Amino acid sequence: MFDQAKWVWMDGRMVPWQDATVHVSSHALHYGTGVFEGIRCYPTAEGPAVFRLEAHVDRLYNSAAAYEIKIPYTKTELTEVICEVIRKNGFENCYIRPICYYGSAMLGLVANRCPLRVAVLAWPWTTMHGSDSLESGVRIMVSRWVKFDSRMMPTTAKACGQYVNSVLAAQEAVSKGFDDALLLDQNGYVTEATGENIFLVKKGEVLTNDSRHSILMGVTRDSAITIARDLGYPVQIRALQVADVLSADEVFMTGTAAEIAVVRAVDDHIVGSGKRGPITAAIQRVFFDAVYGRDPKYHNWLHPVRVAAGKMAVPAVS
Ligand code: PMP
Repeated sequence: MFDQAKWVWMDGRMVPWQDATVHVSSHALHYGTGVFEGIRCYPTAEGPAVFRLEAHVDRLYNSAAAYEIKIPYTKTELTEVICEVIRKNGFENCYIRPICYYGSAMLGLVANRCPLRVAVLAWPWTTMHGSDSLESGVRIMVSRWVKFDSRMMPTTAKACGQYVNSVLAAQEAVSKGFDDALLLDQNGYVTEATGENIFLVKKGEVLTNDSRHSILMGVTRDSAITIARDLGYPVQIRALQVADVLSADEVFMTGTAAEIAVVRAVDDHIVGSGKRGPITAAIQRVFFDAVYGRDPKYHNWLHPVRVAAGKMAVPAVS
């Protein structure tokens, strides 16, 4: 996975991948004290472009604010760093992972006594669940792990430590032969999958939940809602129950890594016809036209990676 990644940006410098290390006493390693993003860059006719970069950078700063983390760079600077990491590695089709985390100074729980570190990694990536996920679909299970709620942790923040909940659910699902897991909240309502938001299609209507059900407000979720509405499908945002999932005609999951993945079965229940449904297919088609720059209507979702004329590239190579 990381074989072709040569350069990582760390605290203001571009460093070779193998030298991008942190000390074992780092606060984030022990307590998960950090926030991060997962972003994608796609090849387009005008060169590589990052999909919805501004939305991801905004979410990173919001996640940081939820943990009182002060990122020592402006959004514009970090945006340029992200583009520089892609350029420096020579990638077109890649996943980008900015992370802001507490480093080494002490291991008490008041994290902000540690230095804040910032890094941006990137590596080539195509599909998450394999190309099948986009067509024939994946099998998910309802997890026995309950999703934490917003009184326990800021659920709309993408924070390192919060992911142990998803890790438990994902490992359980894969060990039982499923591709992913769907987590319920404490009241039994549907929340989301381990790294994806969930959508149902029922009688021509698109349904999904929101932050009231402990979900990360996905950028792909927002894109899918916009596309569905642009295509003329009514979208209803409401609480979802397991019974809604079982009676849905179509189910799909959205995420930067998973893109728009078809769900063909939930536990031993076959969803709808057991194949990709027509509304999922229509939304997927527009989504992929958007990310690959084939649909001018969504060009404002793409941030070109090329150096803008007259703009200085960010910090020097070590
Ligand atoms: N939920 C969780 C828990 C996630 O980790 C992700 C991936 N970032 C998503 C939903 C989907 O968010 P996005 O579409 O912004 O990638």
